[in-house]
Amino acid sequence: MSTPPFCPNPMCENHTTPPANRWWNKKGSHHTRCFGAVPRFRCLACRRTFSTQTFSTNYYAKKKIDYRRLEELISSSMSIRSLSRSFGCSCGSVQNRIDRLARQALAAHAILRPRANSDEDVCIDGLVSFDRSQYFPNNITISITAESRFVLSFTHATLRRSGSMRLEQKKRRKDLYQGIEFEPFAIQRSFTEILNELERDRPPRKHRPLVITTDEKIEYKRAFLSHRLFCNQDEEHRTVHRTVNSRLPRTALSPLFPSNYLDREIRKDQASHRKETTCFSRAVANGLSRMACYLGWHNYEKPYLIKARVTQARTHGEEAGIPKDRIKSIRREMFRKRAFYSMTILDPTEERIWKKSFPTLGRTRPVYLPEYAIN
Ligand SMILES: [Zn+2]
Repeated sequence: MSTPPFCPNPMCENHTTPPANRWWNKKGSHHTRCFGAVPRFRCLACRRTFSTQTFSTNYYAKKKIDYRRLEELISSSMSIRSLSRSFGCSCGSVQNRIDRLARQALAAHAILRPRANSDEDVCIDGLVSFDRSQYFPNNITISITAESRFVLSFTHATLRRSGSMRLEQKKRRKDLYQGIEFEPFAIQRSFTEILNELERDRPPRKHRPLVITTDEKIEYKRAFLSHRLFCNQDEEHRTVHRTVNSRLPRTALSPLFPSNYLDREIRKDQASHRKETTCFSRAVANGLSRMACYLGWHNYEKPYLIKARVTQARTHGEEAGIPKDRIKSIRREMFRKRAFYSMTILDPTEERIWKKSFPTLGRTRPVYLPEYAIN
């Protein structure tokens, strides 16, 4: 990069619409062991200095890590510790790159998702796993299209451990839960967030109702009955909530098959969600960064049909109607050019994942978010 594309200062007039004439001055260069000579610039409007690295996914990084390889390995059930061994760096550096990759994936999804065909039905279901320990189970609610199996959005809720427990487990739970306040109606809140996003992206239209398929969870029914999608219906804007008994066989004929399929894939491909795993997330926000990377890979890289010929493999995004060349160009940029928070239009849940603001109950140490992540 010989010329900077815009000023990185979000408050500057040259941030979103830099003028055609030169708005910057050269300000020498500095040498780095990893990237060699890095040219620096100064904005003539706000006087802020920056370098070519400012616009790279390796901003502030001291070691190069191949983001494509990282994405592939995260999506192949590799744990953080084995990733650190594979890349020859610390677990902290791996998490730092996963966070960067997650922000890049969220930004790419924010550009591509509106291009998907909005006529498909949508399935919503919760993946049940845990963070910190099995005393902190979670419910990761995910919406996915019925035919193309294109993931639209996801959110998180921490729940109280319930079910049968031995006496010492009950005592341990009591000790762990001291001073902790669990969110009331957490699943209902998660489902409402997903409905809000559907309302914005796929509102029901004339002759095209919005059909949502879920299991029979009472929280889903309550959230739907109090949501605008249900309350504001009229002749031309209908939303249907179809429920399926989750005890029915999980075959391809089930209306909930897309959610069941994704659940199976996540359990297979994500080390932190395997059964009886020792690689579980210690912090909710870190786990959600990994999930954002994985779902980006699922939508835009993984073939829709496993049995398709390699030369004919189409991604879930293409099946959802997003042009292949658009996916390719956005993916190419995603691994090279840094996505700026101020220039990315995120929905509220994606914003919380980006800012790592989903709390981990009982964790006293805050999750680290570098300042550059939000410009
Ligand atoms: Zn400026």
